[in-house]
Amino acid sequence: MTELYDIAIIGAGPAGSTLARELARARADIKIILIDGQSADNPKPCGGLLAPDAQKVLARFGLTLPTSLLDDPQIFAVETVDLGSRLVRYYQRHYLNMDRYAFDRWLISLVPESVEIVNAKCISVAESDGIFALKLHGGREIEAKAVVGADGAASIVRRSFFAPCKKKYIAIQQHFTIDTDTLPAYSCIFDRETSDSCSWSIRKRGRIIFGGAFGISDGRAQFERQKARLEEFYGISLGEPIRTEACLVCSPRRPSDFNCGRESIYLVGEAAGLISSSSFEGISSAMLSGKLLADALSVAESPKSAIVSYHKKCRKLQLKLSIKIIKRAILCSPLLRKLIMKSGIESVEKYNYNPYNTNVINTTK
Ligand SMILES: Cc1cc2nc3c(=O)[nH]c(=O)nc-3n(C[C@H](O)[C@H](O)[C@H](O)COP(=O)(O)OP(=O)(O)OC[C@H]3O[C@@H](n4cnc5c(N)ncnc54)[C@H](O)[C@@H]3O)c2cc1C
Repeated sequence: MTELYDIAIIGAGPAGSTLARELARARADIKIILIDGQSADNPKPCGGLLAPDAQKVLARFGLTLPTSLLDDPQIFAVETVDLGSRLVRYYQRHYLNMDRYAFDRWLISLVPESVEIVNAKCISVAESDGIFALKLHGGREIEAKAVVGADGAASIVRRSFFAPCKKKYIAIQQHFTIDTDTLPAYSCIFDRETSDSCSWSIRKRGRIIFGGAFGISDGRAQFERQKARLEEFYGISLGEPIRTEACLVCSPRRPSDFNCGRESIYLVGEAAGLISSSSFEGISSAMLSGKLLADALSVAESPKSAIVSYHKKCRKLQLKLSIKIIKRAILCSPLLRKLIMKSGIESVEKYNYNPYNTNVINTTK
């Protein structure tokens, strides 16, 4: 006989594991299953930077980050590079550089034992007479009274029941063994010739991660092109990558791209489009939306009142992310970006600064 759960959560990233933890703590009487397809061989591609907003959410949970999750080096600033104008600026940042896979495992370790955790990919989800039938890779089938899409940018739940977040990029990252001081600890790169979004390089445990968001149709070619342009800019060769990873990433462009679901079909985190389109910071919104849905579900008297309450609770977060849409439009406009970078507003002056092989702008006096 197929097992029946009150709630099936698909995806145990920051959104799904936060929801499972908070809901199970509030309501011991709810039968929850948490299904996740991630593995150590195929981790979620991520920069692994824990932004102040995400630190604040953890603080509100009373959680502290085990130092074993931290990666070397810790970062105090981002070097912003505009390859088109060859402008370089340096801005203070307060991220924690961490191991993203270990972070996800740590959040899962906090989920109470009452939640059944299954390591498998959900391959289909369908609704019939108010009951959801889920098929998992490996043949297991389950049923649930409600389903939650916490399964990221390519969410099977969102694809099965709702319109997708319209604008998506393919995010590609490569890991290199080169550990050079020539590259900053963290850089954000704009290059209009290869993408209307941005790229980044991050130093991690003696490696460099270079990654970026590119158009889906020719993403790989544009990634390679931008990598070559960056190598030329910094006067280095990254060499052969030891690892290449890719996944979709949402870039909401209008408030209607945020979709928190409907009665008995809830969306949290990136599946709901809840990610900053200016920086791709998504861990804070994922954890926060997981908590907001847990709060809504734990007191709701009916599926209808649960979704009404969840929608209401998400408004502030959606407003905040709508402002990021405006910020993205400004940052990704070559003219406006150039004006902001030239003005030096909010930038940090570096001592003993040697500009790279650019002869156009030395950003310090
Ligand atoms: C390359 C890249 C770099 C990024 N860097 C940062 C960063 O440095 N800092 C930051 O804050 N944000 C970053 N983000 C954004 C951030 O990773 C996401 O917004 C955040 O992880 C969303 O959390 P989530 O829980 O909603 O989804 P995810 O973290 O994507 O988790 C979804 C989970 O669901 C699982 N899953 C998916 N489909 C299925 C299925 N069918 N069956 C079972 N399981 C499934 C996945 O394996 C995964 O474990 C980055 C994104 C990308 C693509």
